[in-house]
Amino acid sequence: MTEPEVAAILGAEGPFAREVPGFAPREAQQRMAEAVAEAIAERDILIAEAGTGTGKTFAYLVPALMSGRKVIVSTGTKALQDQLFFRDLPRVHAVLGSRARTSLLKGRANYLCLYRLDQSVREGNPDRQLASQLSAIRAWSARTRRGDRMEMVDIPEDSPVWPRVTSTPENCLGAECAFFDDCHVVKARRDAMEADIVVVNHHLLMADLALKQEGFGEILPGADAFILDEAHQIPELAGQFFSQSVSARQMTDLAHDALAEAQGVTGATSQLLEPVEVVQDLVRRLRLAMDSLPPKGPFGALDRDSTVHDLLTELRDVMAALSDLLGSLGERSRGLANAFERAQMLSLRLDRIAEEHSASDVRWYETFPRGFALHATPLDLASPLRAMRMATDAAWIHTSATLSIAGDFGHFARQLGIEDPQTLHVESPFDYKRQALAYLPKDLPDPSARDFTDKVIAAIRPVLDASDGRAFLLFTSHRALRRAAELLEGRVPWPLFVQGSAPRHRLLEEFRASGRGVLLGAASFWEGVDVAGEALSVVVIDKLPFAMPDDPVLQARLEALEEAGINPFMGWQVPTAVIALKQGAGRLIRDVNDRGVLVLCDPRLSTKGYGRLFLASLPPMPRTRELSDVTAFFAQGELAG
Ligand code: SF4
Repeated sequence: MTEPEVAAILGAEGPFAREVPGFAPREAQQRMAEAVAEAIAERDILIAEAGTGTGKTFAYLVPALMSGRKVIVSTGTKALQDQLFFRDLPRVHAVLGSRARTSLLKGRANYLCLYRLDQSVREGNPDRQLASQLSAIRAWSARTRRGDRMEMVDIPEDSPVWPRVTSTPENCLGAECAFFDDCHVVKARRDAMEADIVVVNHHLLMADLALKQEGFGEILPGADAFILDEAHQIPELAGQFFSQSVSARQMTDLAHDALAEAQGVTGATSQLLEPVEVVQDLVRRLRLAMDSLPPKGPFGALDRDSTVHDLLTELRDVMAALSDLLGSLGERSRGLANAFERAQMLSLRLDRIAEEHSASDVRWYETFPRGFALHATPLDLASPLRAMRMATDAAWIHTSATLSIAGDFGHFARQLGIEDPQTLHVESPFDYKRQALAYLPKDLPDPSARDFTDKVIAAIRPVLDASDGRAFLLFTSHRALRRAAELLEGRVPWPLFVQGSAPRHRLLEEFRASGRGVLLGAASFWEGVDVAGEALSVVVIDKLPFAMPDDPVLQARLEALEEAGINPFMGWQVPTAVIALKQGAGRLIRDVNDRGVLVLCDPRLSTKGYGRLFLASLPPMPRTRELSDVTAFFAQGELAG
């Protein structure tokens, strides 16, 4: 099938127009489908930016299904992965009458591990809540087909029961496992091997291709094409996956599992008990000692604190000793041999991070309420990403609504090590001139001013009056978010939904249902939130979303750019913030019938030269500095309504 034929499927005379209720043929969607079909056929690298509402999912699923090739489609989150697999893919599949086999593959931590469930049930659990969750999982295990923990919505994602009943590459017994034939991980993997279209998420894709960590190594590289949706997330994720990391959790889990495995082996428990307890104690004391440090920082800060340094040295010694001991016990059971491999790997990584294995790595730490992690992150991500693509000999299609900076794809391509890519930009079908208005309030102080948030709230209050709520207020820091909440709570007539006061999905549901709510969000609300219709008619952005300068990896990256003669601000910080702003602004208009006002409160948009780059990267909506235009915009909407 030729590329124009693929595009015609989405055209006015095609099956989608005939069979899908409400389907509107769009030239932009057809152009993208054509470009994707060509990239798959030629095994090209394509970077395709598709404005909101283009229908990019159909634009890549149609050529993928029609290609007759093996295609891996990767999405940003597991929720999007499910949406693609259970909603979009079956629809396209049915309309095309396709015979292609499809499968959904997640990382192993998403699947119930029958062996570990069995072990946990035997061990029992003194904690009442955990015991009841465990028995619910046990009952579910008898009826689930996929073993995907997403099916168990009642058990919170962060429940400590999950690590007890799911596997990691280190603790999986593989072919020697007694449950191997019924194993959900093995079944999902086998399905993926046989399927033509495999839906994965970026985490799994990266883990698999970057580290072969998930043990799916042979499935994904066999593909003819990779389609990465929400591809703007790739650079950040690559940083995580090419890093070497060790966490407190990994060490305490290992300690726990080693003792559990020792139970059936004569004499093993008595030998392991002491070193295991010492590891657990040291991890706990180290975490406590790190309380005096900022939550994130360069590794050097750990070395400079003598207590932390000494505890870390002790921990390295004990981990090495535990690893040796497990090595000597490993022959006595498969489970202990496995614990030995994990201990060896963790001990090696600890040493590598502590001793600066490579000068091009940034070594850093972070602490969590009950744990910590140590990392060595490579500064150059372009080379490993390039190597990863080269190893596949496949087409690579990167798509998202936010890849270019004022139409230029250079920043994205450089980060991924892509030279001379095919690029495509297709405009959103929305009529931004009519549907939207950007309002830049006058007289706001510099964003570093102490009372900046107070001034922002004062400036947007009349906008909220004009829109009768129906707004997202997006903040670049949690501090600003809290201050704004303080200023609004009890003083406005609209229901407030504040990030952190309830789980994200609940806040969104309630916001949608309220119809006139005001939602205050930071980081996670800038992306992937879809509220079409009148419930969302204003998006306020307090400041330009520059990355936090206290991030040790960012700091090192900026220094490296400077040394290479590149202005780090214009070469990195501005483009990255442009992408983030485009994401935030993209929440406003989600449908051809939406109307709304984007309020940009950062005065640097008009006072600094780089402000133009931000504005030029936004959808083409009229701009104003006059509040009266905003009130007129909403009054006009009422007349039209
Ligand atoms: S093969 Fe691995 S994941 Fe599967 S049941 Fe056994 S231990 Fe668990």
